[in-house]
Amino acid sequence: MKVLVLNAGSSSLKFELFDMPAERVLASGLVERIGEAGSRLLWRSDPAEPKREVKQAIPDHAQGLSLVLGALCGGDGAPLDSLSEIGAVGHRVVHGGEAFSATALITSEVEAAIEAHVPLAPLHNPPNLLGIRVAREALPGAAQVAVFDTAFHQSLPPKAYLYALPKELYRDHQVRRYGFHGTSHRFVAQRAAELLGRPLEDLRIITCHLGNGASICAVERGRSVDTSMGMTPLEGLIMGTRCGDLDPALPLFLQRQLGMDADEVDLLLNKRSGMLGLSGMSNDLRELEDAAEAGHQDAALALDAYAYRIRKYIGAYTAVLGSVDAIVFTAGVGENSDVVRAAVLEGLAPMGYALDAEANRGLRGREADITAPGSRTRVLVIPTDEELAIARDAMAVALGG
Ligand code: ADP
Repeated sequence: MKVLVLNAGSSSLKFELFDMPAERVLASGLVERIGEAGSRLLWRSDPAEPKREVKQAIPDHAQGLSLVLGALCGGDGAPLDSLSEIGAVGHRVVHGGEAFSATALITSEVEAAIEAHVPLAPLHNPPNLLGIRVAREALPGAAQVAVFDTAFHQSLPPKAYLYALPKELYRDHQVRRYGFHGTSHRFVAQRAAELLGRPLEDLRIITCHLGNGASICAVERGRSVDTSMGMTPLEGLIMGTRCGDLDPALPLFLQRQLGMDADEVDLLLNKRSGMLGLSGMSNDLRELEDAAEAGHQDAALALDAYAYRIRKYIGAYTAVLGSVDAIVFTAGVGENSDVVRAAVLEGLAPMGYALDAEANRGLRGREADITAPGSRTRVLVIPTDEELAIARDAMAVALGG
């Protein structure tokens, strides 16, 4: 079966086509600047080849998908002979609220539930829904499957997901911690168990997803029991442009004392803060590492604060789990930055975390065990593959599993 994985954003449509169950990538790419000037499709069928570019006006997501499907089927070097080979479409959906603790076949009820969660993810769920609708229209014979970023964290106990606010805010408005990046945390935890050669159900794992967005998760026997992102993806770790944890009175200060309105505060905390705000120069960890090395003091301080925040969470989640069998670094920063990995675990040997400096040095984008001899906890670098996780789920649902 061929499985198409779609991640629809407000002006973009990312895709990856898999041959399943072989888990072979047949094509990948994205449509960008949908509805804007300069819209184009970038894709390739062979990771070794350069991306092909198709530049043309793409006014909406339906046209974007039709361009993708045209490239995948029938054209020059196309991986498909017929679109009917696509048995399932796996959609990344950001917010499933409390309605979804697992992947779901998209029925009209499921679609209505995704729609009902728009207030919790106003920027993400609407384009996700759009992706579902255009895919159903274009591929009526394929099972449409929703894989939620929040689903893995539905196992959090109330003491971890409730904010200390009047209870009716949870009861009437679903104000609580949801957590995100669930597909990635689940994927790397599963892979860590394979690498350790032990059942996931026997293990306690801390997974650190460090990308542009970043979150950390305590995984107990395969279930998420705490995670750093909250009701929205703003809480927790310091991210590229998001502040992470903050005194909740601070937005009030910005409004009352500095006269900002809610939209300005939103923009400041989500787009102008984090590593960009602290360094005053960039949200890109590579640039910050280079600048710090060249003596840029604010870049160095930003990196220090970044690692310090992660370390605090590792301490907290070690306490949550009691003992930890493995810690996993993943996503752009976690997979590629030896500097960040070393800084995060610095001084944690007495707590049971020590990485092997040699094994860590220069390690980029590749799976590896970088545990130092004598470290109680295994230290692993595992590239995440959310698309593959979605493809596996979509296939399982399409086959009725
Ligand atoms: P997204 O959340 O957009 O999926 P990614 O997981 O791709 O993000 O991570 C993007 C981040 O990874 C960027 O901040 C980038 O600086 C960082 N990154 C990528 N390669 C390296 C590297 N070699 N060293 C340090 N950071 C890196």
